[in-house]
Amino acid sequence: MRGERIYQALSVEGAARYHRPTMHKPRILLVEDEPGIADTVQYALASDGFAPQWCSTAQLALQAFVADPPALVLLDVGLPDLNGFELFKQLQALPHGASTPMLFLTARSDEIDRVVGLELGADDYIAKPFSPRELVARVRGVLRRSARSGVAPAQAEVKNPLQLDEARRQIRYYGHLLELSRYEYGLLRLLVQRPGRVFSRDELLSQVWDGDSDSFDRTVDAHVKTLRAKLKAIAPEVEPIRTSRGAGYALSEAWPAGNDR
Ligand code: CA
Repeated sequence: MRGERIYQALSVEGAARYHRPTMHKPRILLVEDEPGIADTVQYALASDGFAPQWCSTAQLALQAFVADPPALVLLDVGLPDLNGFELFKQLQALPHGASTPMLFLTARSDEIDRVVGLELGADDYIAKPFSPRELVARVRGVLRRSARSGVAPAQAEVKNPLQLDEARRQIRYYGHLLELSRYEYGLLRLLVQRPGRVFSRDELLSQVWDGDSDSFDRTVDAHVKTLRAKLKAIAPEVEPIRTSRGAGYALSEAWPAGNDR
C-alpha cells in the first residue's frame, strides 16, 4: 500500500511519535533525506499543532502528494534521487501542485540564488541551519497568507506604505520621501521587495555591502537602527522592520489601517 511505503521512511520511534490520526491539523509534507534534520523539523511542527509527514526521497514525496495533497511542502534541495528543484517542478505539475505553498530547505548560497531566481513568492526558502522555532513561524506565516489569498503566497493584499522607486533610487514612506544613505537605501530596498521574508545579517551584508571586507554583523545592526529612527520620525507608532531573533530582519506585513500621515 502506498501509505505503508511512505511511512517506511520513518524510524520506529518516529512513527510511534508522529503517525497519529490527524483530522484537522494542517499536514506538512517534509522531503528531507537527513533523519536528524527530519526528526527536528517534525518535532517542531508536531509541537506546534501541525501534522508532519516525512518522506526521505523525491519518489516517496511524489507518491505522498498524489495520495493526499498536503497544506504545504518543505523540500530539501539535496535529495538522493532527484534534486529539489526538479522535484518542485514535478510537484507543481500535479493536481493541486500549483496552489500548494512550497518552501525549500537550503544549505548553500548557490542553492539560495537558484531558489530566489525561481521567484516563487515572498517565502520560498529557509536557510540551513535554521531554528525550529523560526521554521514553524515561517510555515505558519505562509499558510496564513495562502489561506487569505486562496492561492500561493502573495504579497498583494497588504497595503504597504513604503513605495520604492528604483529608477530614482528613492523610497517614500506614507508619502514622505526618505533621506537615505547608500546602504540604508540598499537595505530598505531589499526588505521592501520581499515583505515578510527574513534576511539574515550575512545575506544583507553580501547583497547590500557587496562583500565589503570591512563590514560586520554590527554594521547591519547599526544601519537598521538609523533606518528605524528615520521611519519612526514619520510614523512613531509603526515598526516596519521586524527583528527575527537570531535570524535577521524582515519587513512587516501587518500595517495599521489609515494611510495619511
Ligand atoms: Ca539533503
